[in-house]
This record gives sequence, C-alpha cells and structure tokens, in this order.
Amino acid sequence: MPASACSYFPATHDLIKKYDVQSPRYTSYPPANHFRDNASPTEYQNYLNQRPTTVGPLSLYVHIPFCRDICFYCACNKIVTRDKNIASRYLHSLEKEIKLKSLFFTESRQVKQLHFGGGTPTFLNPAELMRLMRMLATHFQLVDYDSREYSIEVDPRTIDEEVLALLVGLGFNRISLGIQDFDLQVQEAINRVQSYEMVAGLVKSIKQHGFKSLSFDLIYGLPMQTEESIVQTMDKVIKLSPDRVSVYNYAHMPARFSSQRQMDRYLLPNAETKLALAQRIRQSLLGAGYQGIGMDHYAKTTDELALALQQGTLQRNFQGYSTNMSLETIGLGLSAISTHADRYTQNVHDLARYHELLGNDQMPIEKVCELNREDILRRYVIMALACQMTLNFGEVNKRFNIDFVQHFKSELVQMEQMEQEGLLDLSADSIALTELGRQLLRNICMVFDQYKPLDIAYCSKTI
Ligand code: SF4
Repeated sequence: MPASACSYFPATHDLIKKYDVQSPRYTSYPPANHFRDNASPTEYQNYLNQRPTTVGPLSLYVHIPFCRDICFYCACNKIVTRDKNIASRYLHSLEKEIKLKSLFFTESRQVKQLHFGGGTPTFLNPAELMRLMRMLATHFQLVDYDSREYSIEVDPRTIDEEVLALLVGLGFNRISLGIQDFDLQVQEAINRVQSYEMVAGLVKSIKQHGFKSLSFDLIYGLPMQTEESIVQTMDKVIKLSPDRVSVYNYAHMPARFSSQRQMDRYLLPNAETKLALAQRIRQSLLGAGYQGIGMDHYAKTTDELALALQQGTLQRNFQGYSTNMSLETIGLGLSAISTHADRYTQNVHDLARYHELLGNDQMPIEKVCELNREDILRRYVIMALACQMTLNFGEVNKRFNIDFVQHFKSELVQMEQMEQEGLLDLSADSIALTELGRQLLRNICMVFDQYKPLDIAYCSKTI
C-alpha cells in the first residue's frame, strides 16, 4: 500500500500546504465562535414573543452531557462521571427548561425531528429515558407517523437489548453509532475499545428491531491509522451496511481539549496522509454504492439524505447534514443551540450555572448571534456550496435582490484563483466544485465568510 496520497488525490504538495489552515466547519453561519457572550434571558424571551409568527414543524435537540469514560480525541461538551445520580438532577432542570421554552411555541407545531445527542444519551437508565420522553410529550406535540425523524446517538458500549427495545417503544426510529475505527491499535490509542463482533451483534439487533435508519460515525486522522488499516475498517463498515456514514476529520486542539494530550506519545497522520485516508474512505463507500453528501457524509441512494440532496432541500446544521423539515430548532440542555430564522442562541456550558438559572426560572442561555441581512445572504451562499457543491448566482440574485457579481466582486477574484488551482469551475453565473474542491470545501466556504479573521485559533485544520 503506498504511503503517499498522490496517486488518489490530485493536490500538489504546495496546494496542501496552502490550504491546510484553520477554518470553521460551517455547521452554522456565522460560525459558533462568533456568538456573542452575555446573552440576556429577558431579551431572548422578548425576541421569542415578538418574532414574526412562525409556522410549520419543529425540530428539538436534547443534549445529555454525561459519559462513563473519556475518549481521548473527544471535542464534545461532556462531563465524564460514574455518578449515576447526576442524571436525575439534570433531568429536573431539563424539565424546567422544556416547560419554559415550550411556552413560546404554539401547540399546533408538530415535532418532526428530534435528536438526542451528547455526551452519551444512553448514560440515562431506562426509567430516566422514559421520564425525559414523557416531559417532551407533555410540552410538545410529538408525532408517531412514519416520516418523523427521531434519532439518538449511541455509544455501542452502553446499550443492551432491553434499552434498544425501549428506544423503539419511545418512538426513536433512527440510531447513530459512534464507531470511529475498528482497528484495535487505534481503539487502544484513543481509549475506546469496542470489538467488531460486539458492534456486529448490536447492528443485527438494531435491524431486527426495525429502526428505519442506522448511521455510523467514523473519524480519520487518529493515531495509528494507516491507509491499510482504514481499508480494513471500511471493509467491516460496508459488511455491516449502515444507511448513512458520517466521516469526521479529527480536530487536534489539545490546548482546548486536554484529554487529547493523552495521545501525545503517538504520531498523528500528517496532512497528506489524512487526505489519503479520507480518499480511501471515499473510494470504499462510493465503490459500495453510497452517495457522497456534502463535505463529510455518505448515504445509500434510497436514504432521505440522498433524496434531499437530489431535491435541493439538504441542510447543514449542528448535527452535520439534515433533510429540510423545520425552520426552527429548539436546543435543550447544557450548551445546546437553538436556531431561528435570524438568530442562534446557545445555552450555558457550566452545569452549576445551568441548575442555578433554571432554579430561578430563567432561560439558561449565555450566547447569542443575531443575523443581519448580509449574514443571512452569506449563510445562504455558504450552505448552498456546502450542501449542493454548486451555486447559481441567478438564484441568489432572485432571493436577495442583489447583483451577485457586483456584491461578491473580491470573492470572485479569489474564486478565479481557485479555478486555476483546479478547485472549481467558474462560469458567468455559477460556481461548481470539482472533486478537489469538494475535499477543500471549507477553504472555499471561508472565502465568503466575513468573520474569518477573528479568533481563528478556535477552529480546527481543514485537512
Ligand atoms: S466521544 Fe462521545 S462517548 Fe467519548 S467522551 Fe466524547 S462524548 Fe463521550
């Protein structure tokens, strides 16, 4: 197996060097590091009261921050604990938050999308999971028809048949498993050992229980990963046949996430090797009939995500990619983000503060980002590129009543440069990304990001 990426990836060494820079992941625009601190709970309540009447389905995101063990690579907002009692108090505050926020959303709005993320949502025991669903059902209109998307992130080490059956009973029809890599040496290096046999048994049970969609999360750029090992991991992934695969580029930021220093004794793959790993994963999945979705997702062609891409309704959000079902997402729990048409609001990160604010019946928020017209325009451009890999200027002109070529004069000069480098095809009225551009998508999006010079150290490398 060759060590070099060059036979798979057309980027020259100079291009890799030029574009291996820090950049946001564009799960939102403006990126989350531009959310303003000191959000006011009262002002948020006023906003919710006064915003234009919003109709249509709702999306709920519930964050369960607890984990039993630490995975060294982790960049999530989590609390590692073996204290099982911690969840009960958390649910007490969460119930207050659910009640408080539900007051601002009319009862007729159906919850078509529900996602439990973490942390480890299955840190909650069966009684706690039931309690949480009951709270949500009391204050929001949950639905039971087939097209609902109720999903939960599952750590394969924390679930058994009993919980799986319970999740079906509670209405979940989608499961996402944190796989990362099947290679034992990689798993030991990242402190997350979970055998293929155990995962294969779990996958069999998930399919028997009739979940509509099974998704795997993988990470490349981890210690001990080689092209050879990743090919073997991908053979196992394909054998298990998940409906979706999310492939994440490991974000090494030990200054922000101290557990990552535990991997200091290992060499991390360099930028060229990471690109080769990403390319190996892509080849395996495309070869097995999956469709590439945006910058880091893959789906079977019959999956809703692939259909949303074909219909032009694919969206990028804090969970990655999503079908376009809701204009508003209500974030519940520690650090959860709510999305409205012209605003993001983020909950507090500190557990004690979360309890304190809800103890005083206050919204547990700490950050906000109000979008002006220019932000909304640029968000549209960035999300179109990130989802569709193309951008039609006429469509933007119609939607925002602008002259794209005039408005984005300086950005188009940079697009011309990127065209010469083979990242995209530029015409009089469109941008279309090439295969190389797809891999450097974050760099292309960054050209349209007005905020990029600020706090760039917060961001991970693009490659
Ligand atoms: S990767 Fe998941 S399970 Fe591991 S520490 Fe992070 S949030 Fe917890």
